[in-house]
Amino acid sequence: MTDFAATKAMFDLPEGVIYLDGNSLGPLPSTAPAAMEKVMRDEWGEMLITGWNKAGWMAQPARVGDRIARLIGAEPGHVVMGDTLSIKVYQALASALEMRPDRRVVLSDSGNFPSDLYMAQGLLTSLGADYELRVVAPEEVADNITDEIAVLMLTEVDYRTGRLHDMKALTTKAHAVGALTVWDLAHTAGATDVKLSENNADFAVGCTYKYLNGGPGAPAFTYVAPRHTDAARPALSGWLGHEAPFAFDLDYRPGAGIERMRVGTPPVLALAALEQALDIWDLTTMAEIRAASQNLTSLFIEEVEKRCPDLDLATPRDPAQRGSQVSFRFEHGYAAMQALIARGVIGDFRAPDIMRFGFTPLYIDAADVRAAAEILEDVMKNRLWDNPAYKARAAVT
Ligand SMILES: *Cc1c(COP(=O)(O)O)cnc(C)c1O
Repeated sequence: MTDFAATKAMFDLPEGVIYLDGNSLGPLPSTAPAAMEKVMRDEWGEMLITGWNKAGWMAQPARVGDRIARLIGAEPGHVVMGDTLSIKVYQALASALEMRPDRRVVLSDSGNFPSDLYMAQGLLTSLGADYELRVVAPEEVADNITDEIAVLMLTEVDYRTGRLHDMKALTTKAHAVGALTVWDLAHTAGATDVKLSENNADFAVGCTYKYLNGGPGAPAFTYVAPRHTDAARPALSGWLGHEAPFAFDLDYRPGAGIERMRVGTPPVLALAALEQALDIWDLTTMAEIRAASQNLTSLFIEEVEKRCPDLDLATPRDPAQRGSQVSFRFEHGYAAMQALIARGVIGDFRAPDIMRFGFTPLYIDAADVRAAAEILEDVMKNRLWDNPAYKARAAVT
């Protein structure tokens, strides 16, 4: 059994703050600053260029990838780190499309995060006018999986509502019509019990600065199913994905297995910070996290509905159909969130009217959930949001 009180003590959370935004940016693992200083001084400072060999920097993307593989139900040796999520979406989608050369349609949904759709639009425009990005409502995805579809590209959890797609059913349906899948795990890695291998996913990508607590700008990860790794051609064919980067050949030859999805120089310092978070992740299992998270989200829904009749639940009521966040719609949601943040409860706002709260059992417990609901009740009942100071929108909401 995971000792969640112990994991909570391993994060530096500011006094008086209830942090319900780990779905956007996870908090700081307490050991990270000293560990970073050590990597900087002992490795970068002392070893200089020899650190690539001596400190194992070159092997770090696959080594860290293996630590994430356990959390997303992937086979060891099939996850690699690097770049940002938007880049990895492009790369995975390009590889998958090439594996279905006679098809032209990418299917996604309107609950996807815009960057994924933008990356797909950019790629399809380069490929030619006969390619199409078909975007349907989330609940209509299954019915639109036809034999025209080359790739089904979905984010498992809707960033606004928290609705969770059925990865198994949709992947099975995609395979039945000969399509491939690209799953974005941005809101499920570290949040739900993702089972890539068991569900036969083809490609998956995700970021590590949200639930995985790797820090702002922490690198993304890519998964390619074992049956595809030697067939997938990386469209972003950088030198570190080459079979022999230090042969400096003029022609690209993809590297063995997942290594080919690497592009350029790995973010060594960012990966070092992420590894401190992964030391905490080593103390738990995703099955336990999922169970604890469902308890927390259910408790929050119950407490808020009892106290705040003006808020409308936007998240599925069935815990099996939601990720690890709860969203409420409220006309003055932006101002209400600012009022809440001023009282120490940090969530965020997504246009047009969604107040979003992320629940992370590693450092949020039932007492935090109850306290947050009480403060939200105060904000709502006493109209604390009705204050001009809370209505001016900042650049990041
Ligand atoms: C957070 C998020 C992103 C962000 O991509 P970056 O390149 O890391 O900025 C992309 N897609 C989804 C689904 C996200 O949730």
